[in-house]
Amino acid sequence: LGRQLNTALNSFSKASVVDEKTLDALLKEISKALLESDINVKLVGNLRNHVKTRALKEIKEANASTNHQKSKQIVHKAIFDQLVALVDPQEDPYKPTKGKTNIIMAVGLQGAGKTTSCTKLAVHYQKKGFKVALVCADTFRAGAFDQLKQNATKAKIPFYGSYTETDPVAISVAGVQQFKKSKFDVIIVDTSGRHKQEEDLFEEMVMISQAVKPQMTVLVMDGAMGQAAESQASAFKQSSDFGAIIVTKMDGHAKGGGAISAVAATQTPIIFIGTGENLHDIDTFRPRPFVQQLLGMGDMQGLMEQVQDVAMSDPDKQKELAKKFEQGSLSIRDWSEQIKNVTKLGPISKIAGMIPGLNADMIGQGGDDEASKRIKRMLFITDSMTVKEMDSDGSIFLRKGTDGKYVGMSKRALRVARGSGTSVREVEELLVQYTMMKSGILNMMKGQAGGAGGMKPG
Ligand code: GDP
Ligand code: MG
Repeated sequence: LGRQLNTALNSFSKASVVDEKTLDALLKEISKALLESDINVKLVGNLRNHVKTRALKEIKEANASTNHQKSKQIVHKAIFDQLVALVDPQEDPYKPTKGKTNIIMAVGLQGAGKTTSCTKLAVHYQKKGFKVALVCADTFRAGAFDQLKQNATKAKIPFYGSYTETDPVAISVAGVQQFKKSKFDVIIVDTSGRHKQEEDLFEEMVMISQAVKPQMTVLVMDGAMGQAAESQASAFKQSSDFGAIIVTKMDGHAKGGGAISAVAATQTPIIFIGTGENLHDIDTFRPRPFVQQLLGMGDMQGLMEQVQDVAMSDPDKQKELAKKFEQGSLSIRDWSEQIKNVTKLGPISKIAGMIPGLNADMIGQGGDDEASKRIKRMLFITDSMTVKEMDSDGSIFLRKGTDGKYVGMSKRALRVARGSGTSVREVEELLVQYTMMKSGILNMMKGQAGGAGGMKPG
């Protein structure tokens, strides 16, 4: 989508004058790109009108009809703001409080990712220090309890379910009561789905909901859901009145447009996105970075949060990193570990915009394959470094002249290049990337109140 929008914006800037006609042509291209991302037809129409009205007005006010740079900026900003407005209903979702019983109920179609997301949610809250338990109220799908049991055991989370009881309401009530008695803070109830929005599914949902009275109901929705997302979300909203959405499978080819339409239709915020099959593959959703990513704009903040989340799964690692950030002593080893972590987050084309120096433009033609190769080569280089080199800040690879200034690459760089089957030029490039990321991170940490405070679960 980002690439398509950029192409559209580029051909727009070639026109000699910016007027209604050129803007219309641009908006037509942009609408096409949005529709192809599965954003609802009506929403795209509205967006188009809003952007047009606002952009024409601002271009006129700024006297920018012949200033392409300026008018491009105006149009880009208008599109950005409109997309953010779509995914941001400005409603704060329910947040669990410690020392209270917080019951969360997950609803959604079969295969949407409810059971997986329930476990991910449980792990997420457990990491934040909540006492969390899982209840399996899915008596519809064979093996549902075994699946939850397996997930919960892996994550070391207490669970409740039954092989013999067939009434999901009875199970929910019993499970919730048991965990309430043992003073659990967060009790997550996983329900069954159906292949379609069937009447009996909605009935079951309403009955469970009335019995356990959840503080928050979450709609779990497959990120690959297309134009049907809007009606599905509306139907679920009517019967279950969910207060938050989790969009799953955003690690694959999902375009996420369906989810955007679901938010707009129900005015309900997305709280998390699922980015993989593992228990830790869950990201806090934030509207602006999401749209930035959608439009192929870099997102340092988002990158850092994700890297922190990965680091967070290992508390010792987290403390160590926090200290390094504070001291500004992030080594090449730390950096290469971050790169490895980031590449776990999804296909390169999605995350490239988040790695400084590795933006979407650079992978433009080569696509994912080309970018993966680049990253692999960078990691070959770090793999060929000695322990001392890995733990350094990179200056070890530079040669100093008599006046103490750096004049080029040292013999070490040549050795590492040979050892990794790359070139000195590539080693140099790697150092540039590392330095850029390091200074980017440092600036960010400085920008955040309390410096390394950003590393705390927040
Ligand atoms: P449910 O029927 O709604 O409970 O869905 P499940 O939790 O059983 O998930 C259905 C399938 O989707 C499983 O194979 C999961 O591993 C997979 N899945 C769930 N969430 C994600 C995700 O965020 N990314 C990926 N790649 N797979 C997911
Ligand atoms: Mg399930």
